[in-house]
Amino acid sequence: MASSSEPLPGTSDLWDAEIGDWLALEAAARRVFSAYGYGELRTPVFERTEVFVRSLGDETEVVQKEMYTFADRGGRSLTLRPEGTAGVIRAVANSGLGQGDEKRVFYMGPMFRGERPAAGRRRQFHQVGVEAVGPRDPVLDAECIAMFVQFLDEIGVSGARVQLNTRGLGEDRARVAAALREFFAPRVGEMCEDCQRRLDTNVLRMLDCKAEGCRGIVAAAPDMIDLVGDESREFFGRVCRCLDQLGVDYELAPRLVRGLDYYIHTVFEVTHSGLGAQDALAGGGRYSIVPPGATKPVDGVGFAAGMERLLMARQSLGVAVPPRAEADVYVVSLGEASVAPGLVLARDLRQAGLGLRVRAETAGRSMKAQMRTANRLGARLVLIQGESELAAGEVVCKNMASSEQVTVARAAVVAWLRENA
Ligand code: AMP
Repeated sequence: MASSSEPLPGTSDLWDAEIGDWLALEAAARRVFSAYGYGELRTPVFERTEVFVRSLGDETEVVQKEMYTFADRGGRSLTLRPEGTAGVIRAVANSGLGQGDEKRVFYMGPMFRGERPAAGRRRQFHQVGVEAVGPRDPVLDAECIAMFVQFLDEIGVSGARVQLNTRGLGEDRARVAAALREFFAPRVGEMCEDCQRRLDTNVLRMLDCKAEGCRGIVAAAPDMIDLVGDESREFFGRVCRCLDQLGVDYELAPRLVRGLDYYIHTVFEVTHSGLGAQDALAGGGRYSIVPPGATKPVDGVGFAAGMERLLMARQSLGVAVPPRAEADVYVVSLGEASVAPGLVLARDLRQAGLGLRVRAETAGRSMKAQMRTANRLGARLVLIQGESELAAGEVVCKNMASSEQVTVARAAVVAWLRENA
């Protein structure tokens, strides 16, 4: 049995050594997305349950099986956000979006889904995503995909595949559903229980069933592009042409529909072979969502990428940021009287803006014990200031890798470190 100090399955403690990689990823996201005019939005991690049920659709896997829903003290039903778009749309609608306006936001943070934990599938995971809310314009869809591809490029994730399809418009749905029902009805007996139910409730979702026995049947289903109306076909054509002009490589995925009901027109998924079975790096598309309390839908296009998976893809390519040492420099003090001057030396180094992590001895232990600590912390340099060095106004600077050491005047230590750290 798991010990009660372990994090729950599908969650983890993220320690400092890994945080460098996260910070680099977050910084790249901020840089790339803000260069396209996207501003950051931080929405609450929990919302009224209806925010998700209404926009994601009550027949979706996420809503039916995966949401962490609870009642607050007033008996209101609340849910930990399973994805970012619904909350962003609620926030944008709440802030007021004028006719013809476009609002561009990006977000990053934890999402929660009660899925069965597996490699790359977690219950608390993190997404970075964007939404361009407002105009229903195919050029925006293409630019959004191109921006994600540029982001992958900037974080060193090469070899990702962009798969693209259309879901058509709401108006197409009855015709699409009828055609799919006609195709699936004679075969539904061989399909999974979920699909047998979906045949009546949400036939589109049969197209992205992951069950082994269903996949072969789904592969022979009609292509979405052949089922949707002229307007949708034209829209999709413009997305593809614009992607071509932007030089983005993509593949057509004729039966990709994505799991959530709010999508219209463009849907896409980005996969990477370095991820194993859960190979989706990101998913997104165009949507039309009626925010809570509103009557009119809000349109937008966006994507969300799994941050753990982006980091896994980087690791698989060997471009991850190496773990950071707990300290770069350790100040050794020998003799009780040199402990406080050691703290002053450490403070001077921190204030010099060298970006070094500095730790100093506080307990006045033996040289051997202090060197052991410096090693454990991963310090590259040790600065030794015993009572004799203090009297002489000097510091012994030792390189831990080469064991070389030099004596430097106390007043020149910062300058020496600037050159040698
Ligand atoms: P989705 O909207 O479900 O396609 O999620 C978008 C992206 O978030 C996926 O492509 C994954 O990279 C990531 N993701 C979704 N669910 C999980 C999960 N349970 N654990 C880790 N990453 C996830």
